Amino acid sequence: MERQAARFEGTCGTCGAACTGWAEQFVEKDGLRWALDLECTCGTASCDRGRGTAQAAVREEILARHGTYRLQAEGAVVLKAIRSAFGLSIAEAQRAARAGYSGTLVEVRLLAELVRRAGVPAALDRDDQ
Ligand SMILES: [Zn+2]
Repeated sequence: MERQAARFEGTCGTCGAACTGWAEQFVEKDGLRWALDLECTCGTASCDRGRGTAQAAVREEILARHGTYRLQAEGAVVLKAIRSAFGLSIAEAQRAARAGYSGTLVEVRLLAELVRRAGVPAALDRDDQ
């Protein structure tokens, strides 16, 4: 399964101290998932999970740690893949697809897989080198 994780620095919701944890993105049943686990020395542990694009703070950590990738594919199928993988509206998907989609490796690999499954060639490139 496709999965990327990065160290995450957050703030404890109980005592307000700085604490560290893991930000993670992965694919489940052809959909994007994210998780954020934080543990504080005060004993508080929190884990947030969700579907679709991760909250910005989670994505930023993963992009910083693992780099940005760009989807190389064309056609209406790209928009459809973005909508179904990330659970976006048409307008949101159009915005994301406008300049060719770039994001985390987990996101772009999932899109490439969905596009290929529709019979359209797709590749991905590292975008930030
Ligand atoms: Zn705490």
